[in-house]
Amino acid sequence: MAPVETFRFPHRGDAIRCRIQRGKRSKTMALRVSTEGLVTVLVPADLADSKARQFAKSRAEWISSQRRYFATLARAFPRKEFVSGESLKVNGKPYRLKFIPSTKTIPFCRLRGRRLVVSAPGPHRARETIINFFFDQTLSKVQPILKRLGPSLGFPTPKIKIVDQENRWASCSKNKILRFNWKLGMVPPFVLNYVVAHEVCHLKHPNHSIGFWRTLRALNPRAEVARQWLRQNSGLLRII
Ligand SMILES: [Zn+2]
Repeated sequence: MAPVETFRFPHRGDAIRCRIQRGKRSKTMALRVSTEGLVTVLVPADLADSKARQFAKSRAEWISSQRRYFATLARAFPRKEFVSGESLKVNGKPYRLKFIPSTKTIPFCRLRGRRLVVSAPGPHRARETIINFFFDQTLSKVQPILKRLGPSLGFPTPKIKIVDQENRWASCSKNKILRFNWKLGMVPPFVLNYVVAHEVCHLKHPNHSIGFWRTLRALNPRAEVARQWLRQNSGLLRII
């Protein structure tokens, strides 16, 4: 395996650390900043190190702004620790987490009044149990919306999968399988309606063409408000 090449350079009092990733097929250079603020410089296989460094440095301002954006997002949406008293949203409504440590019962997670009650041996299993709960929640909420929307576009109810993703809420594959992130169990109903409508429209339009948006707006009049909500709450994708 090729050694991982890294370098760092200062920028406005910050030390920016970059990793060079060489791709056999990449012909151009590109930059990627992860949600943790790690920078990857993607370059062609035979490109000189100095060129990769130069490229990253020339984009220092953009890298910094991305890192600041992700840092702000992390502060606004801190990762959950699965302790009693934490607030978690289910279908857009806030619930207080009540964690009951137990090694004797089978782990469970359920809504009780304004609380989300979780019983598990420790925080790690509590997290898994909560994720399972959200998988079920998302599936049970998505299915009726699909049943309602699919036929209105002339499609039978499509195949769906509930998946675990860090960067996207949903997607539609070439073979017309719709994938929905289990984290959609946290969003308000009007947003979920939009996400499902968006993917259903992809059954007809595989891209984001004018025709796609026209069909979507006819199907979901609150599309714009929901899109804005998703942009402002993208941090929810990383809190659990
Ligand atoms: Zn789309």
